[in-house]
Amino acid sequence: MVEVKDKQFVPYLSEAELSQRIATLGAKINNDFQGKEPVLLGILNGAFMFLSDLAKAIDIPVEIQFIKVASYEATASTGQVKNLIGLNVDLEGRDVIVVEDIVDTGLSMKHILGLVAEHNPGKIAIATLLLKPEALIEPLDIDYVGFEIPNKFVVGYGLDYDGLGRNLKEIYQLKE
Ligand code: 5GP
Repeated sequence: MVEVKDKQFVPYLSEAELSQRIATLGAKINNDFQGKEPVLLGILNGAFMFLSDLAKAIDIPVEIQFIKVASYEATASTGQVKNLIGLNVDLEGRDVIVVEDIVDTGLSMKHILGLVAEHNPGKIAIATLLLKPEALIEPLDIDYVGFEIPNKFVVGYGLDYDGLGRNLKEIYQLKE
């Protein structure tokens, strides 16, 4: 068990489970984008660790870029997505793989897909480490999902609780 700020969390996904699954996702991307040079577009802050490990599991040439959006305060979605660092890279005709830590309501992803689409890219794919299917309110076609998880708050491996916990090597679930 770990304590982050005032809350207790129990182990949920181990380092081994994460790395095995990410290796599989990387192999799928290698296969699907053979002969291409996609842009991995990481969503800060949460996706930094997943993007780093996913990029290492990919052996085709990729460009790495980031944008920053925020929709969460403490443990709940505000329902509003703010752009904090915009998309200032030329994506015209490029294949883009949006890399996210977690898709919850899907509002952030919908917002990001809109931003990417404005740049007339080639194919747009989505990779998310975690998906909470019960919380999803925006229909999304997600190409690469690490794990489908229940609608409970998780921290670690890039995901924070009120700014802390991102450095944890494993993913933990809020203790009921
Ligand atoms: P959505 O817009 O899909 O509701 O939420 C996406 C964002 O909310 C994620 O990128 C993440 O920052 C945050 N989020 C959603 N669920 C969780 C969770 O269980 N734990 C943490 N730490 N962040 C979450």
